[in-house]
Amino acid sequence: MSELNDLYQEVILEHNKNPRNFREIENATRHADGNNPLCGDALRVYVELEGDQVRDVAFKGSGCAISKASASMMTQAVKGKSKAEAEILFDEFHKMVTGQLDAETDENHLGKLKIFAGVLEFPARVKCASLSWHTLHAALTGEESASTE
Ligand code: ZN
Repeated sequence: MSELNDLYQEVILEHNKNPRNFREIENATRHADGNNPLCGDALRVYVELEGDQVRDVAFKGSGCAISKASASMMTQAVKGKSKAEAEILFDEFHKMVTGQLDAETDENHLGKLKIFAGVLEFPARVKCASLSWHTLHAALTGEESASTE
């Protein structure tokens, strides 16, 4: 577990310093706002859909390192995927950070996102890690805001 923790720290710090897809999408098909008042994380997720495919996805906002790194990796993970595939990742990610899925032993598509299993040890951080995913889910389902409450 400590190896995973080292990797977790490293990846979070790197993505926080240099977040991917940290921008607005001017002609976004949809966007949604996500707030995690417990920590003060506030993100807006932009999605550009082409038919059923997530052609582009990006985010803006401010928050702690975990929320930002998670949003950064979320955009990398769902870009180019179909809506259905993105929803599967949302579901698996949510189950992993709430302890309902063991990313090492249960079948899943999480790949690099597995490092966020590390937040299980820090319950106060679970909402930071899942905020961008809830916000993506809201955008994909046509809602304008998401809350981790
Ligand atoms: Zn946070």
